[in-house]
Amino acid sequence: MTSGNGTNQRRITILGSTGSIGTNTLDVVQHLGGRDAFEVMALTGNGNVALLAEQARATGARLAVTADDNHYASLKDALSGTGIAVASGRSGLIEAADMDAGWVMAAIVGNAGLAPTLAAARRGADIALANKECLVSAGPLFIEAVRRGGGRLLPVDSEHNAIFQVLEEHQRHAVERIVLTASGGPFRKSTLAEMEKVTADTARAHPNWSMGLKISIDSASMFNKALEMIEAKHLFDLDPEQIEVIVHPQSVIHSMVAYSDGSVLAQLGCPDMRTAIGYALSHPRRCNLPVERLDFAKLSRLDFEAPDEVRFPALRLARLAMQRGGTQGAVLNGAKETALEAFIEGRTGFLKMADIVETVMDALCGLPAPRSMEDVFSADEKARQLAAGLI
Ligand code: NAD
Ligand code: MG
Repeated sequence: MTSGNGTNQRRITILGSTGSIGTNTLDVVQHLGGRDAFEVMALTGNGNVALLAEQARATGARLAVTADDNHYASLKDALSGTGIAVASGRSGLIEAADMDAGWVMAAIVGNAGLAPTLAAARRGADIALANKECLVSAGPLFIEAVRRGGGRLLPVDSEHNAIFQVLEEHQRHAVERIVLTASGGPFRKSTLAEMEKVTADTARAHPNWSMGLKISIDSASMFNKALEMIEAKHLFDLDPEQIEVIVHPQSVIHSMVAYSDGSVLAQLGCPDMRTAIGYALSHPRRCNLPVERLDFAKLSRLDFEAPDEVRFPALRLARLAMQRGGTQGAVLNGAKETALEAFIEGRTGFLKMADIVETVMDALCGLPAPRSMEDVFSADEKARQLAAGLI
């Protein structure tokens, strides 16, 4: 979709522009031509009003939205005299998603991203999907909404972007399995006794990737990989048995597709989300980006090891959720988000998070399959309540 002002600018919106993916997206946009090439329709953030206002001014966005109504006045103040419209809260996020942008980056963290991403999908925008929770919670319903809307679903999560790059549509019938790589996180070699005592400060230190707080801790517990297994199932229409996870500490191979003739295709690169974001923004072309290039001589080796599902039970829980189907993805995610918040605030232990999620999944495994998004939101809410009661 090009600009209404007669130029060839592409209209884009970034949901979650102040986060790690959001700021990387704006960086890619800048490298690919900035305001000459793109018209930014809407940007959204939460508490970081100063950054949001700065981004809106720099890009000339039409609309800036803070998810938190309490920040509306300060955002309005920061943008007074600029002509940039300001909104807040859930309705503001939907307003941003509904702006007439042909490409929308979905980079709000957690379940809060579901409703606005869905709104953008329903009106037919291409969705660059970083927010994996959309697929974990609402899988088939979300895919169906994108299909009906008529836009493209462009995976941004590095593993899924890698698979998207090497899974050719005409060879889909020959896919045997996909192999999701995982760095193993900061506790790859820790014992259970050591993991028992972990705090949010140690858990957030990811060895290879620089990311938001929640996804960094999810990487340490491998709940991030658990979410990504479910995400891959829905994105690429796979059976749970076709999804393998391998620990690869260097994070150079971003994931692989194994075909029925014995070939395995992989996408490699330095760990920098701008490659995946640029691919989603330029698809089906490739763009030029100033990311670090792989130097194989320096790299010298790539290591692999099987994940340990005793120390990282999240992977087992993802398989359970996929096998059970129905609302179990939404339940896993709702319980996980509640346990994660409690862990960040020091109200529960690192290993306790998986126990809480499993107990809630078992308690809610009788819920009927969701027929609407309301069923998904209701399962998520039930899971949060039960999880909160266990903390
Ligand atoms: P982040 O915490 O750095 O940023 C999150 C963004 O969401 C910010 O703009 C924040 O203002 C906004 N936000 C926070 N709470 C909100 C709420 N309640 N309502 C509306 N907006 C809210 O997170 P991130 O690391 O950029 O991750 C964003 C999404 O992308 C997540 O779903 C994550 O799993 C996914 N992802 C991130 C990476 C990465 O490298 N960071 C990689 C793959 C996938
Ligand atoms: Mg990932």
